[in-house]
Amino acid sequence: MAIVKADGYGHGVIRVANALPEADAFGVASVEEAVRLREANITQPIVLLEGPFEEQELSEIAVHQLESVVHNHDQVRMFAAGSPHTTLWIKLDTGMHRLGFAPSEVPAVVAVLANPGRQVRFMTHFASAHLRQDLSVPRQLEAFFSAIDGAEGERCCANSSAILGWPESHGDWVRPGLMLYGVSPFSDRSGESFGLRPAMTLASALIAVKRVAQYETVGYGKAYVCPEAMEVGVVAFGYADGYPRHAGTGTPILVNGVRTQVIGDASMDMMAVDLRPLGDARVGDPVVLWGDGLPVEEVAQAAGTIPYELLCRMRMRAHFVERRA
Ligand SMILES: *Cc1c(COP(=O)(O)O)cnc(C)c1O
Repeated sequence: MAIVKADGYGHGVIRVANALPEADAFGVASVEEAVRLREANITQPIVLLEGPFEEQELSEIAVHQLESVVHNHDQVRMFAAGSPHTTLWIKLDTGMHRLGFAPSEVPAVVAVLANPGRQVRFMTHFASAHLRQDLSVPRQLEAFFSAIDGAEGERCCANSSAILGWPESHGDWVRPGLMLYGVSPFSDRSGESFGLRPAMTLASALIAVKRVAQYETVGYGKAYVCPEAMEVGVVAFGYADGYPRHAGTGTPILVNGVRTQVIGDASMDMMAVDLRPLGDARVGDPVVLWGDGLPVEEVAQAAGTIPYELLCRMRMRAHFVERRA
């Protein structure tokens, strides 16, 4: 089940779905996202990962033949009274403590929802599969498999970090998100080391190059003081485009393929870069903010966030160019 919520992790949900014709299902967060896929003629099963938020959504679930997670008793009541054909994924809370039923509640939920026309499946979600030695994963797996021991229905647990790090968690279905976009879910291991390639490259260009004297400052609020007379570049990209303002001085960036650093804080539409590592830079020179040659994981680390957040924000303003690998 390819996870394409948050507009395909910022890549464009329809673009991603069309690029993954072999996916057995797509996972989304809302009926709106599912309907967008159906309206783009995506015919694979689509699973609502949080189920319906309101009863009125049941009619769209039926019309668009969506599948749904069921994680609370309100949803059990809705589906007990609703279409008997909707495939349901009963979610168990085995330690994440976000969504799902306690293992002890599961038999009663199954008794209400199972009927001859309906497929019932089981899922859970890991809290810490991205921490590779964490004992919570085997504990959650044990809780999951023992709670549904003997029950009929396919099993699904693993997100990207469990797929890559915990093979014993795979079950019948897996739910990759981040790794589909070529990004590592582990802070201590690169995507490249798993053979992943970034799907998104965020590119811009220099729109100004200037020489700034020693001890002069660059940008708002004296965020950067030039330690020597130096060349500074201005990149046409800012926080209104989705670049993290917290990725200040020291954040890696590529100019003309050369690795250098961001200086100061990004402003709304622009940011400054240190051109000292480049021989001669000119207006128009290409800049890569992340992607090919510069993992988004590194930028996320410098910004004190995770790659998921940076990718998801990319629907803000940037213009997309699609290339087939
Ligand atoms: C987002 C999500 C995933 C995908 O997680 P990744 O870490 O991006 O692989 C899987 N399962 C559920 C329930 C999710 O909400």
